[in-house]
Amino acid sequence: MIVIVGAGLAGLSAAYHLRGMPYKIVEREREVGGLCRSYVKDGFTFDYTGHLLHFRQTAIKALVESLLPDRLQRHARKSFVFSHDTYTEYPFQVNTHGLPPEVVRECLLGFIATLSRSPSTPPAESPSFKHWIIESLGEGIAKHFMVPFNEKLWQVPLDDLTSDWVSWLVPKPDVKDVVSGALGIKDKAFGYNPSFQYPVSGGIKVLPEAFLPSVENLTYDSELVEIETGRRRAVFRSAQGERTEEYDRLISTIPLPELVRRCVDLPASMRELAGALRWVSVYNVNLAVAREQVSDKHWIYFPEHRYPFYRAGFPMNFSPSMGQPGCSSLYVEISHQPTEKASETSLIERVRRGLEGAGVLQPTDELVMSDVKNLYYAYVLFDRYRSRAVKELLGELERRGISSIGRYGLWEHTSMEDAIAQGQQVAMRLRMRAAA
Ligand SMILES: Cc1cc2nc3c(=O)[nH]c(=O)nc-3n(C[C@H](O)[C@H](O)[C@H](O)COP(=O)(O)OP(=O)(O)OC[C@H]3O[C@@H](n4cnc5c(N)ncnc54)[C@H](O)[C@@H]3O)c2cc1C
Repeated sequence: MIVIVGAGLAGLSAAYHLRGMPYKIVEREREVGGLCRSYVKDGFTFDYTGHLLHFRQTAIKALVESLLPDRLQRHARKSFVFSHDTYTEYPFQVNTHGLPPEVVRECLLGFIATLSRSPSTPPAESPSFKHWIIESLGEGIAKHFMVPFNEKLWQVPLDDLTSDWVSWLVPKPDVKDVVSGALGIKDKAFGYNPSFQYPVSGGIKVLPEAFLPSVENLTYDSELVEIETGRRRAVFRSAQGERTEEYDRLISTIPLPELVRRCVDLPASMRELAGALRWVSVYNVNLAVAREQVSDKHWIYFPEHRYPFYRAGFPMNFSPSMGQPGCSSLYVEISHQPTEKASETSLIERVRRGLEGAGVLQPTDELVMSDVKNLYYAYVLFDRYRSRAVKELLGELERRGISSIGRYGLWEHTSMEDAIAQGQQVAMRLRMRAAA
């Protein structure tokens, strides 16, 4: 018997691809989807912050499109950066046109300086994220976007982070793109997501729900509380009490530190490794105002420290069915340390003030709905400790019959597409093992 813990995209995809093999899938919540969920409040639909589909793997794209035939719409990305009271297109590094001339000059000269630097001996380990930013993009782009934005997002000095995760998220431009972007010449889409797909209606939760007709033996409302890895037994707690499941293999998609904490017979050294993993949480502040189209954009990045949030997005611009006629809805993201607690009222007040300061909202706008969700595990920190600790933990768990997958199971910074791919890969490995 294979037991899958968690019915987010990784767990659902594992179940989907295990069809025909004996498995059970157990979820703590009353619904599937994990982070890829949507909810409705006062007639407005919100995801747990915006969740947009960008595909890099043709097989996963084909799978998602077959699960949601005619239910996805393609959008040409309208994402912007707001700084120096000016909107520039994202990504910042190839779109500085429109910023004050002295800012554009700093960005250009800084980037050009990176080109003439003689290549130093390759460092023994990955350079810090801050070092990478300055070496790859230059002092100006670092100062006016990359450093303040990322400090706000990650909530730690950027010297604490490595750069081995940045390559696809932060593409290094060539000089022609940087110069064209400074002059306002647009001859190429840039970045990892120049277009995206999104459900026509219902929010992103329609994606996990589309797996359900092909998934069996799914139990809701049941939390994994303990695992004896030696005896391959997992204990689940629900309103009805505790239940023990025996397994041959366990696929876990829950956050790695939570999994290790629940494994009662792991060596203390493993607990210490997991206990030192770091992450940031995100307050997801959702608002609706009684004014149509407060913005024509999909989302906006806010690098400057005078705004408490790092990003705000507009769900009704992905799908008008996400809101009510005559209104606009917004999701706003604020990173914070997991231990930090702020009241809902103060968050809404800070967000409102910030959005008014940026001119997105007007002081006369009537707030018709507001809500705050705390995404406790949002962004894992790629610090110098992470890579070795995760490798050792995953190896030890595998030796004990547990495959830990998904964004938080692998403790990484990956997308919905990656979670689906990981579920597929683990299922294929188990199929091959069963056939051998
Ligand atoms: C702010 C933010 C924005 C994002 N935006 C995008 C985007 O635009 N596009 C994109 O592609 N990706 C985006 N992502 C990433 C995307 O959400 C994830 O990659 C994906 O949803 C992860 O799926 P998962 O199954 O690995 O994990 P999860 O969704 O976390 O699923 C884990 C499941 O395990 C369950 N669980 C946890 N503990 C237990 C327990 N003890 N017992 C039983 N069940 C348990 C949970 O309830 C959950 O259902 C974003 C992520 C964040 C944080």
